[in-house]
Amino acid sequence: MTAAVALALLAGLLAPAATPPIFASARPDALPSPANPASGTPTTAGLPARRTTVTAPDSAFDPSPGFDVLSYDLSLGLRAGIDSLEAVQRITVRITSDSLRELRLELRGLTVDSGAVGGTTVRVRRHGDTLLLPLPSGVSPAAGDTLRAWVAYHGRPTDGLIMRRDIDGAWTVFADNWPDRARYWFASVDHPADKAAVTIRVTVPADWTTVANGIRTLDLPLPGGRRRQVWVERASIPVYTMVVGAGRLAVEDGGLARAGPGGAAVPIHYVVFPEDSARGPELFGAAARIVEGFARRFGPFPYPKLDLVQSATRYGGMENAGAIFFAEQHISDGTAPETEVAHEIAHQWFGDGVTEARWSDIWLSEGFASFGDALWQEISRGPAAYRKRLKEFEDLYLSSDAVGRPILGPVPADLTRLLDANAYQKGAWVLAMLRRAVGDSAFFDGLRRYFARYHGESALTGDFQAAEQDASGRDLSWFFDQWLRRPGAPSIRVSWSWSGGSRGASAPGRPGTKAARAGPRAPGRGTGGVVELSACQVQEGAAYRISVPVRLSRAGGADTTVVLRMRGRSASLRVSLDAPPDSVTADPENTVLGPVRAEEATGSPPACAAGARPGGAEGEARRP
Ligand SMILES: [Zn+2]
Repeated sequence: MTAAVALALLAGLLAPAATPPIFASARPDALPSPANPASGTPTTAGLPARRTTVTAPDSAFDPSPGFDVLSYDLSLGLRAGIDSLEAVQRITVRITSDSLRELRLELRGLTVDSGAVGGTTVRVRRHGDTLLLPLPSGVSPAAGDTLRAWVAYHGRPTDGLIMRRDIDGAWTVFADNWPDRARYWFASVDHPADKAAVTIRVTVPADWTTVANGIRTLDLPLPGGRRRQVWVERASIPVYTMVVGAGRLAVEDGGLARAGPGGAAVPIHYVVFPEDSARGPELFGAAARIVEGFARRFGPFPYPKLDLVQSATRYGGMENAGAIFFAEQHISDGTAPETEVAHEIAHQWFGDGVTEARWSDIWLSEGFASFGDALWQEISRGPAAYRKRLKEFEDLYLSSDAVGRPILGPVPADLTRLLDANAYQKGAWVLAMLRRAVGDSAFFDGLRRYFARYHGESALTGDFQAAEQDASGRDLSWFFDQWLRRPGAPSIRVSWSWSGGSRGASAPGRPGTKAARAGPRAPGRGTGGVVELSACQVQEGAAYRISVPVRLSRAGGADTTVVLRMRGRSASLRVSLDAPPDSVTADPENTVLGPVRAEEATGSPPACAAGARPGGAEGEARRP
């Protein structure tokens, strides 16, 4: 998503305390154990969210021990002016343990009327957010079996399904689940590691339109001025993207994107409030081209259609699978930027198609979507626009408090705190730097491999690393370690000095270095010389393995670009030129996250931090 509040936080516009503690975190791994349900943590419903770090990443975390949800099937009744619902929910699970004794789901608030497992009515028990459906005697499935259950409930959701008058005064209903607010309106394994298919059957006033994930398979008039619409998404999607929207909505044709498997057409629709119908083409007009542009680079679009929806989401945009929800106000006032549209569309592959299996790996969702935002700038406007967007991301990241934490770190109790400049802006930079390190061909091949392997499933950072390693044929452990598992960014100083020499003489290289000859000599110029470049990493902590391009510019002459390959804290390089450079620019195209500065040496080369010796590392010159 693009999170309006979180982005304001990043920009320093709001103090963290201004974030409304709308919901308390109740991670499923903090719930009562099946063996001793009463021993669990009391529900924290209604209490302000704590902000302390409580949970370390856990590679073995299973949000639904003993079973895996295959599909949710929700039947909802909605009425204008009434902020409550009546629902019947069916669930199909695959059993993963021979000793499963109950199905454990999350549901907050709402009144459960009845339930059944395997066709037998059962007594549903509740402990805080946990809903326990015991397996009746005689129902003892083995691992690999499927099992069906249902639960009927009613009530007024206090979050998750937003039922209210919209900015135009009309009654609308929109789901808004991220990160774990689906539990406010249906019983679920409310964690991104357990994805499932979803069917939503919704009965509404006859003059309403509905929108949801997947394809609409039924539109049936009912007596009493009602209608029923059914939406089916067969792909497994994260619970936090399972949504429905309903109200008097205008649906406009947004064209076809040739982006499905085998080039199949993906229909695109703009779903907006009738008063804002002009905004659809204005704000979403690029959607079909964005979908096609990403499909060429990432793989086929993973869903049968894409709706872009004006909604009640608390985020600027929310990447619900096949039905992206945008904040109503941003559509109404025309301020939803194309960058946001591109971000949410990129999520359809990364976040929705392949989902982070742990919250700690959220950069696999937000970093990839932010990279997609920048990539769309490159596709639509060229490389300079891509670099400009990355520069904006860099400035946001370096001025945020996220620089003190690694991308892969502990999970905060309040999951909204995951929406920081590590997940978004630095995450996008990691991909941009990986692209640079392995080259476009291997990088996008790796992205496609990762998507092809895991779409419909959840994955971890190591899975993405493996796909990129397979595509590039290189061990990238060092890259993932330095950019994801340590905080901050390098800070690099390059100093340069000129010393005259004989024309045409190749500068002697230092041991372990290669010297570069300059570009075309200006005829009739005088004696040449040598530029000595010296780079130091001055950040705290260990050295980064990094390549720093340096551009040597001469007025009226061709630029020469060389690359300082740093394997330690320092590197140096000698470059012979026909004439002294007029300017020297380190990292002119901003390919290295963090400050990189060049200055003409006024005395001895800059001292590198932590006792590193200048010139102690290899340098290598490369023509651009
Ligand atoms: Zn996002």
